[in-house]
Amino acid sequence: MTIALYPGSFDPITNGHIDIATRASRLFDKIVIGIFSTPDKRITFSIEERVDLATRAVAHIANIEVKSYTGITVDFARQIKAQVMVRGLRMSADYEREFEMAMLNRKLYPELELVCFMASQEYQFLSSSLMKEVASLGGDINSLVPKHVAEALKNKGVSK
Ligand code: ADP
Repeated sequence: MTIALYPGSFDPITNGHIDIATRASRLFDKIVIGIFSTPDKRITFSIEERVDLATRAVAHIANIEVKSYTGITVDFARQIKAQVMVRGLRMSADYEREFEMAMLNRKLYPELELVCFMASQEYQFLSSSLMKEVASLGGDINSLVPKHVAEALKNKGVSK
């Protein structure tokens, strides 16, 4: 059984993340969306809220689970017995960062294979932070996040 870890901060989950998780769920037996729990002032949603929003977003896909973790990502990968780490690649800046992290992760956990998915064209420029900026300026985010995430952004006062 191939278990793939899809890690990130998911603050909150967007349609871009869901697209990657969905595509990965067709290739691997089990996907664990690992949400990094770190005290960071720039984070909008608490770890419980982020887990809840992501869980609801992928509830229709049987082989995707959502879990939070602290500490080093590769340690969490080992703990859940993941053989694969999934990441999404948008523009070239993502590539450079992923390459750097992949080299370091390989040193820490050589058996873990990184599989990067090219972002779909419609989500190429979508990040949680940009989406929140659009939302706070009154822009329409309905094509960027699921309905319940748009609701949560309203309740947080991020969007009107
Ligand atoms: P991090 O907190 O690691 O910067 P995120 O939590 O935003 O990243 O995202 C987790 C993973 O999902 C990363 O691999 C990121 O590149 C990818 N990702 C984020 N948004 C998109 C998108 N719109 N399309 C494809 N991949 C994405």
